[in-house]
Amino acid sequence: MNKRNYAKELENRIEEFQKEGVYPRLLLHACCAPCSSYCLEYLRQYFDVTVFFYNPNITSEGEYKKRVEEEKRLIAEYNRQVEEGSFDKMNSDAKARKIEILEGDYRPSDFYEAVKGFEDCKEGGERCRKCFELRLSESAKVAREKGFDYMTTTLTISPLKNADVLNEVGQEAAGKEGVTFLPSDFKKKNGYKRSIELSQMFGLYRQDFCGCSFSKAQRELEKQSKDII
Ligand code: SF4
Repeated sequence: MNKRNYAKELENRIEEFQKEGVYPRLLLHACCAPCSSYCLEYLRQYFDVTVFFYNPNITSEGEYKKRVEEEKRLIAEYNRQVEEGSFDKMNSDAKARKIEILEGDYRPSDFYEAVKGFEDCKEGGERCRKCFELRLSESAKVAREKGFDYMTTTLTISPLKNADVLNEVGQEAAGKEGVTFLPSDFKKKNGYKRSIELSQMFGLYRQDFCGCSFSKAQRELEKQSKDII
């Protein structure tokens, strides 16, 4: 069976929008500023983007605040480029438009409830699938309520996350709400590499664990075992 190329599928959709001369409204679920950096640089050329920051998986309120503030700072940087006209110069055929942000509820109990029974799974396993389902279901609800044309997520930029699982979960969540999920694999076409460059360029806070307390504990163990070696 041929493996799906989600990055190519997104490119094909974008080509169609370009031919039709439309800039659809997109709700982009975002996990953090470093992952958003490339996704926003790419998507804002073709969509009217609103970021949805919904991440009840984040381990503590302090860490949550750091990540959401960094997301807002990144968006302000991109919007400043629009105000100054430099975005138009960088992307001559793109319409200059600003990025909006919506913030979801930060209620960690929702995350712990969603991953109940899967706490001990390794990163990338069933616990992560439950975590994606929670975050993308809420995103789909918001996309429907606010009448967005499409939704997708920055999560596919991570080399540690399975694009097949994310696209499947995203499509299912969107389908239940009657919303269209845009296929994506943002790590492709040097997307992940570009996110590192942009994070350095904007001096973004780049955490060394995915988000939840389990991923933080796993990262600590990995660091300790490296120290012992
Ligand atoms: S490792 Fe990341 S994706 Fe997996 S459950 Fe934790 S926060 Fe969610």
